[in-house]
Order: sequence, then structure tokens, then C-alpha cells
Amino acid sequence: MAGGINYCVRCGAPMEDRFIYGRVRRVCGACEHVHFDDPKVAAVTFIRNGDKVLLVKRSVDPERGKWALPGGYVDAGEAPNAAAIREALEETGLEIEIVRLLDVFFTPNHIRVAPIIIIYEGRMIGGHLQANDDVEEAAWYTADNLPSIAFESTQQMINRWVNNAWG
Ligand SMILES: [Zn+2]
Repeated sequence: MAGGINYCVRCGAPMEDRFIYGRVRRVCGACEHVHFDDPKVAAVTFIRNGDKVLLVKRSVDPERGKWALPGGYVDAGEAPNAAAIREALEETGLEIEIVRLLDVFFTPNHIRVAPIIIIYEGRMIGGHLQANDDVEEAAWYTADNLPSIAFESTQQMINRWVNNAWG
């Protein structure tokens, strides 16, 4: 079954699997409405302070208890860079600005998180470090004293930073 949508959002009739636009999708048997299963997108920020990087300890699954870059889902109608700034403030109490786009990761097995992860470089411009929202702690780490890292994308960005290979 593609998507798990049982009833049409337009007319309420049962949806069925049908091969359409290159793959199996849920289609309404009555009004032909096609359900497109859109991917979740996350925007996260790599924020440095001297030789340290800002990490947050996750208090929710998946990867609960491990450390990730501050960030979260992009809301419908919200610009990705605005989402990154909002999430940094919500999770760490810090006001940041976006410096540049670092990379975009696609991890199709991240169904429970976000398969598309946009990573920005950010810079602190205000606020006070304080863990909030869905994180347990927020802290600065040097490359030689890193905690257990959540998500492959976080690890890859940290590796590039450690190896001074992120351009
Ligand atoms: Zn319908």
C-alpha cells in the first residue's frame, strides 16, 4: 500500500492503489483524486564558536539521548532558512543568522524523521544558551571531546568540520 491514506480528502470515498505517474499511488475510486505522499523536510544549523560546535541532546525518539545539530521540520509555507533560525531559538535559546547553505542530505531510510535534511552554517547574534523544546541539553563541544552523535548527516558534517574539508 502506498501512503496509507484510506479515504479521499476531497470526496470521502475509499482510496485504492493504482499505478500512476511512474509508481503505485493512492487514488480515489470515485473522483480520481491522486494522493501525493510528500517527503518531510528538516532544516538544521551548524553553529561554531571558536573551535566548538553547538549540539543538542535529543529527548525524543528516534535517536533519543544522542546529540544532533539544532533543527527541525520545515512547516508548510515556511522558508527553510526561517525554519532553521526558528528551531535554533526554540531548542537552544540562541538567536542566529544564516551564513550559507552547507549541504542537502537525502536519507530515504529516515521515514520517521525527515528524508531531506538541509544543513546551513549559522552564526550566533544573541540570546542565551538554554535547552528547550524537544532537547534535553544544549552544549558546545570541541572536536576532540564529542558525545554520541545522532544521525548520519550530523556525523558527516562533523567529519568534514574535523577534517577541515567543508570548503
Ligand atoms: Zn474522491
